Amino acid sequence: MTDKTDVKSLTLKELEQQLTSEGYPKFRAKQMYEWLLKGVTSFDEMRNIPSDLRQFSDTRYYISVATIEKKLISRYDKTVKYLFSLHDGEFIEAVVMSYHHGVSMCISTQVGCKMGCTFCATGKSGFSRDLTASEMLAQLEAAQRDLNVRISNVVLMGMGEPLDNLDNVLRFIELASEEKGLHIGARHITLSTCGIVPKIYELAEKKLQINLAVSLHAPNDEIRSRTMPIAKAYPMSQLLKACRDYFDATGRRVTFEYSMISGVNDSDENARELAQKLSGMNCHVNLIPVNTVEGTGYKKSNIQRQQSFVNILAAKSIAATVRRTLGSDINASCGQLKRNHIKEGGK
Ligand code: SAH
Ligand code: SF4
Repeated sequence: MTDKTDVKSLTLKELEQQLTSEGYPKFRAKQMYEWLLKGVTSFDEMRNIPSDLRQFSDTRYYISVATIEKKLISRYDKTVKYLFSLHDGEFIEAVVMSYHHGVSMCISTQVGCKMGCTFCATGKSGFSRDLTASEMLAQLEAAQRDLNVRISNVVLMGMGEPLDNLDNVLRFIELASEEKGLHIGARHITLSTCGIVPKIYELAEKKLQINLAVSLHAPNDEIRSRTMPIAKAYPMSQLLKACRDYFDATGRRVTFEYSMISGVNDSDENARELAQKLSGMNCHVNLIPVNTVEGTGYKKSNIQRQQSFVNILAAKSIAATVRRTLGSDINASCGQLKRNHIKEGGK
């Protein structure tokens, strides 16, 4: 497979160039591209492509796939969670959520993660490898094909740290925006990071119109470094400065993710300190009651704590909401489905 080109990593224009340079007519590239978008897994399925081109393509290219291994559907809200397998037998997870404004999908950017956050199932499982841009696309295409829907929004909040795989993520954003492809523009893509400061600056330089979410989860370095090892490499003062600079460079408001863990980061004092640190920033805080992951011992904050936290932030003019948890019965925050699958002997 290694000597073949990953056909889904090419833009339509690049595929056109490659096929015409081999003497095939340009429109064949568009036909192939349409098949790829439908999520086909072999050139043989491309029925309107002549057999010589199918054979040529088979020797020259490979199609990266995300094969559905498991699918869980929430009884409450139709949220769908997938466990996909990749060509090398690795597993990744993704979630499709339906809102009144469209269908959103949370996809993975790596197999596992190196960052080791203590509350996160993915972090606990370690790191295997980066995903290619086409493996990110393949998750969207597989779900679109399976559910027969158009996905309008993408969040890079599945397994992995997107800024630890920035080149492939940037390529993915470019490919996803292709008008004749998925046609998902940057404004409909949200990238979530644990806060790798130099990479935030690198991203800012690209001046993309994507939404940036930063996982903060604490009001200070002392608490943050208890759950997020990255906090030791990049103190919050540097991280918040990078977020301000990001806003100045792109004009895009930053969202802060804050998982509320009972007794760890959810006191009124924690809320006041957070409000003070975020004062004057053009931002939004997403509060998420932490999902309990086996073996962590963390519990989610109760409703009163959540409300009190929001009220303190609101009193200081910091916009904050408690995120609605979709698919609570099939959860599993990302990483748990894979862990269970492996435990059951899936790998
Ligand atoms: N690596 C990136 C994106 C993937 S994690 C990041 O950390 O931002 C996506 C989000 O899920 C992050 O905000 C992360 O902190 C959060 N998360 C991970 N495990 C969680 C859990 N058990 N409960 C609640 N949120 C969790
Ligand atoms: Fe990695 Fe994000 Fe999980 Fe931390 S929360 S371990 S950065 S996936």
